[in-house]
Amino acid sequence: MIEDNSRWLRCPDCDAKTRTKVNEDTVLMHFPLYCHKCKKTIKVNVIEFKIQKSAEPGT
Ligand SMILES: [Zn+2]
Repeated sequence: MIEDNSRWLRCPDCDAKTRTKVNEDTVLMHFPLYCHKCKKTIKVNVIEFKIQKSAEPGT
């Protein structure tokens, strides 16, 4: 049995599952995550499954 250590990313705005999968050791910085529910792309940082919005420029 192969251990599945990947998960679907969830939209930080509406918590919907996106179609992007990450592994436990995946690190994303300023990743443009597309949410088909919000119909927009949100820049996020992901470290060890912890997802947060990356800071918008100018804020
Ligand atoms: Zn969303």
